[in-house]
Amino acid sequence: MSLLVVGSIALDSVATPFGETADAPGGSAVFFSAAGAILHPVQVVGVVGSDYPLGVLKALERRGVDLTGVQQVPGESFRWKAKYSYDLSSRETLDTRLGVFAEFRPKLPDGFRDARYVFLGNIDPDLQLGVLDQMTHPALVACDTMNYWIQSKNDLVLELLRHIDILMVNDSEARELSGDWNVYRAAHWVLKRGPRMAVIKQGEHGALLVSPDATFKVPAYPLQEVFDPTGAGDAFAGGFMAYLASTDDLSTPNLRRAMVYGAAMGSFAVEAFGIHGLENVSAADVRARVRAFKDLVHFETGEDHR
Ligand code: AMP
Repeated sequence: MSLLVVGSIALDSVATPFGETADAPGGSAVFFSAAGAILHPVQVVGVVGSDYPLGVLKALERRGVDLTGVQQVPGESFRWKAKYSYDLSSRETLDTRLGVFAEFRPKLPDGFRDARYVFLGNIDPDLQLGVLDQMTHPALVACDTMNYWIQSKNDLVLELLRHIDILMVNDSEARELSGDWNVYRAAHWVLKRGPRMAVIKQGEHGALLVSPDATFKVPAYPLQEVFDPTGAGDAFAGGFMAYLASTDDLSTPNLRRAMVYGAAMGSFAVEAFGIHGLENVSAADVRARVRAFKDLVHFETGEDHR
């Protein structure tokens, strides 16, 4: 079952209390595919400028990522600069430079149009809609966005909600979009506007899956060392969507499992700067972490012993 992502392919300059990077490869499509390809082949749609280190993309290709939909055009690649707070729980965007993304109009290669699983990674909502228009019959469309787009293109973000199955955003984005500080209410606000599910990522507090009749919560994996939270959300999405694509099963128990695969992938992403945390992770490593999650949350009610 084919899995497609459209998103940013970026050069990130990130400062955390533990170090900093300058022009390190990142972006929503890169984190998503670095994580997703561990479980399932990924097709990528995006654009890079003439300054992008192509070796990074070649390394992804060797791991099962199809880059036929990535264009390289003259100009500067998308650049993003951010600084994290001392406890890594919040970050400030210092600079966003769209570069070649400003003129990008995605055109899907023929072999990509019939993908069954689609992730519209964080990127201009206009481009996300443009990709969706070219898809023939996706089984599941999930979509991320960011404060930047919620503020600058709110109407298009709302239009997008009418065409997707899952909105997958972090808690601050859900609050900003809905205008409600309570994330559960914010999730239900989203459900009234089109999507049949909302996945709210909550950083060190895990993630929440909300549908009209059920709520499921997965914790974040307890790690003693966290270096860089950048891309954890996209790695989560990569794990979640790749698990669904590899199993082609949208039942409730499988969606819950996909949440745990997402959380496992997010936990690998934050263990090193940029995409390095995902570089040497195997499917067996991911499965082992999923088992560790099961232990982490397992408990007996005690009622059987009465
Ligand atoms: P996350 O930490 O999962 O929210 O994703 C961070 C990634 O999103 C970084 O690699 C950035 O390059 C990318 N990014 C940040 N701002 C934007 C934006 N406005 N549009 C597209 N991608 C962005």
